Amino acid sequence: MFKYDYTNVFAKILKKEIPATIVYEDEYVLAFEDVNPQASVHVLLIPKGYYISMTDFSETAKDEEILAFNRSIVKVVRLKGLDEGGYRIIANTGVNGGQEVPHLHLHIVGGRRLGPMIAH
Ligand code: AMP
Repeated sequence: MFKYDYTNVFAKILKKEIPATIVYEDEYVLAFEDVNPQASVHVLLIPKGYYISMTDFSETAKDEEILAFNRSIVKVVRLKGLDEGGYRIIANTGVNGGQEVPHLHLHIVGGRRLGPMIAH
């Protein structure tokens, strides 16, 4: 298992060392606008706990963290008006998943038809 890198960009956002446009925040999660949006709505949802990936989170997070993370998805969806038109949630994981930032994040993307699920 890899060690968490406390210098990654999302850890810095959590520590308020660099700014982010916050969409939703509570005790357990932070949601903010992706700096390089791939659609008119592109929000990143992260746990406030320091977890590298969904694997790490699912295996080691407390139940209350997992519950709060899951329930916060729909809060972001509603805040961004994605409920009616639909949306996509992506969790890039590891090398094959194309994960760039080693802090678990869900991409919540919508606002247009998003096309095929996977690029070939
Ligand atoms: P991933 O490839 O799944 O690790 O996605 C990382 C995402 O983080 C990309 O969509 C980037 O545009 C986004 N990103 C990187 N730095 C920042 C930042 N400072 N604020 C907001 N989003 C960021």
